[in-house]
Amino acid sequence: MSVTDELQNIAPAKLIVEGVSKTFSSRSGKVQALDNVSLEVGEGEFVCLVGPSGCGKSTLLNLIAGLEKPDSGRLLANGNPVNGPGRDRMVMFQEHALFPWLDVTGNVMFSLRLKPGLTEKERQDVAAYYLKLVGLERFAHSNIHELSGGMKQRVALARALAPNPRVLLMDEPFAALDAMTREQLYTDIQRIWAARKKTIIFVTHNVREAVCLGDRVVLFSRNPGRIREQFKVELPRPRDINSVELAAHSTEITRALKSHHVAQEVAE
Ligand code: ADP
Ligand code: MG
Repeated sequence: MSVTDELQNIAPAKLIVEGVSKTFSSRSGKVQALDNVSLEVGEGEFVCLVGPSGCGKSTLLNLIAGLEKPDSGRLLANGNPVNGPGRDRMVMFQEHALFPWLDVTGNVMFSLRLKPGLTEKERQDVAAYYLKLVGLERFAHSNIHELSGGMKQRVALARALAPNPRVLLMDEPFAALDAMTREQLYTDIQRIWAARKKTIIFVTHNVREAVCLGDRVVLFSRNPGRIREQFKVELPRPRDINSVELAAHSTEITRALKSHHVAQEVAE
């Protein structure tokens, strides 16, 4: 396989979540993280999941990633049942979880172990391509500890993108970053989504962030975790988080959150 083939776009995936429930047992008793949740995400769609802490957003993402199994219901990724993790569905977390003993390129190349057909040189070329895409080409050989928080998340993004997954699952990836760094990343993730044609599911507790990024915003409530309402966002892209139109849309969604009594801990 040549690097050019490797970087070809693949068809983005369609995801189906059907009547999924998940209960966890803890010392303080049983928690119903998800109660009969159904969701369809179209090919190439950018969907944001929003809701207060504990409403099951991460649980749903982990189920789609194949890191957890549902108690009931089923999940399909492009027609195939989700039975475990796969390189077609890569995850990016709030904590970057990079390997400090590998440099920037080494971290991105690490996820290419999921692509056994590539030679060492091809892995290097693929890593270089994604580092350029996330704006880190000048830091290809930096150590992880030399990077800022935003740069570490860019490495994590390049690492998640490198196996060319059809689905990118992002769990509050920018939550720990300062506002200015986040704003730059909003622009960049929209550009990358358009360039690489991914299906993206993005978890956040920030309504504005969801409206800035999503084609659709899915609102969750907790105890038990359920989908309450969905909003289509039809603002033109690229979107600016500080625009008046965007603020008006987020106000509408925050109002819906309040009406479901789940506005606590959700940032407007
Ligand atoms: P969110 O990401 O929306 O904050 P989570 O999906 O992490 O919510 O959690 C939903 C609920 O399930 C919470 O009450 C949480 O404490 C519980 N939960 C999640 N994972 C586990 C686990 N591995 N063991 C026990 N309880 C869990
Ligand atoms: Mg979470």
